[in-house]
Amino acid sequence: MLDLPDARDRMVEVQLSRRGIHDREVLEAMREVPREAFVAPGFEEFAYEDGPLPIAEGQTISQPYIVALMIEMAEIGPGDHVLEVGTGSGYAAAVISRIVERVYTIERHAGLAETARQRFEELGYDNIEVRTGDGTKGWPDAAPFDAILVAAGGPGAPLALQEQLDVGGRLVIPVGDEPHDQRLLKVTRTGAATYSEEDFGGVRFVPLIGEQGWPESGSRTADRRSGPARTRSLPEMIAAAAEPLPDFDDPAFGELFDRFGDPRVVLLGEASHGTSEFYRARAAITRRLIEKHGFTIVAVEADWPDAAAIDRHVRHRRSRADADPPFQRFPTWMWRNTDVAAFVDWMRQHNERIRISSRLAGFYGLDIYNMSGSIGAVLQYLDRVDPQAAKIARERYGCLTPWQHEPSTYGRVALTSGYEKCEQAVLEQCRELLAKQLDYAQQDGVDFLDATQNARLIASAERYYRIMYYGGAQSWNLRDTHMFETLEHLLE
Ligand code: SAM
Repeated sequence: MLDLPDARDRMVEVQLSRRGIHDREVLEAMREVPREAFVAPGFEEFAYEDGPLPIAEGQTISQPYIVALMIEMAEIGPGDHVLEVGTGSGYAAAVISRIVERVYTIERHAGLAETARQRFEELGYDNIEVRTGDGTKGWPDAAPFDAILVAAGGPGAPLALQEQLDVGGRLVIPVGDEPHDQRLLKVTRTGAATYSEEDFGGVRFVPLIGEQGWPESGSRTADRRSGPARTRSLPEMIAAAAEPLPDFDDPAFGELFDRFGDPRVVLLGEASHGTSEFYRARAAITRRLIEKHGFTIVAVEADWPDAAAIDRHVRHRRSRADADPPFQRFPTWMWRNTDVAAFVDWMRQHNERIRISSRLAGFYGLDIYNMSGSIGAVLQYLDRVDPQAAKIARERYGCLTPWQHEPSTYGRVALTSGYEKCEQAVLEQCRELLAKQLDYAQQDGVDFLDATQNARLIASAERYYRIMYYGGAQSWNLRDTHMFETLEHLLE
């Protein structure tokens, strides 16, 4: 069974308080009014979700946060007389009625107005008057109002509503150039004929339809003298901001990205599992950044030891003799594809032309998953530079050996008694390797970086697989942190 009062409390805490609604009377009123009594039958279980819900006549009951925000913006208090335009379900009027002396609410659909009236009666909310009609003309015989809230978006703030404000009164209204795209405005009557205006950002309400709103069809012929012109629709904004691109095989394509040449780090797309077109566009941008702007690090969402094999190839270094072929792990197509191969070839040729080692472009993997590849790489490195240390490392990593190929089972096993956690061992190994930097790095700084990064990866992966067993966000955060720190090490 759903515990609706509990869900309501949670909604107030999570959706309102934490998002910056601080007016205690508003929060109290939102805690008091049962939103489930205002949603369409069958939608009760969704009453406290963070969004608008459909009601009759193709209309909506507004998102709880927007209701609270508008009421807070209106700065209402006990003793106030408030007009609401767009009764809809009646929910916002009900919340307002818990704070002020009297609420007047107008709805253009008679059926909605009648249902709302019945709800108020059933709940015993007897300080609300409902009327059917065009709310853009206001409610002259009950004016002036301390506040007017309009729950539908118009082309401007209707003059009739502005004139029905008391001096000092506040009109809160979504206003926009398009019927479904608005800015939330607060218009305050500062004197007999003076008003000030504040903008509270973009919102999306159903259209305000009436004499001083949009015509029934929703066309643009409404009288806009009543208020300022506002923003364009979302597709129009995208169209205005978008720039046509030449084909990405055309050299002119890369030139368009010269504007990103100065920053130290450029992030390229999160569509990295995408189409061939995306891969080729990404390669064209990267080539330009390397060639014309001196970038030297290509850091990708791939496992470190696998990317290291590519790095050796593109920087003309010898490959590791006994290493497994790179990129065998799911999803293999992410990096083992012809578009990446063409880009890797280009990097190798570019480095051949450059020849100055500090200016060679490298290819690095930020990701954490190939623990067994990393163990192999650290051991092989130590075998070469310090066989005694390699023996100790073998013992330490031996703790993880049974799980190397199925590391996701390690978390479960690490929990059960009798199994040693490998954390201590892998951390010690990582620390020891770093402590030997002066000795080892003299032999080959690049190989040392590779080995330490593998040792770090093993330590992160050991934790990752343990935490992953519990599920949740922690393991993702650990992986992201590892990727970020790897990038920092590369930049250093
Ligand atoms: N406050 C409502 C609630 O809590 O459920 C949500 C209202 S809904 C977003 C907007 C309502 O405004 C719709 O029911 C629509 O029919 C009404 N409306 C649009 N233009 C109107 C007008 N000129 N006069 C009165 N109501 C209007």
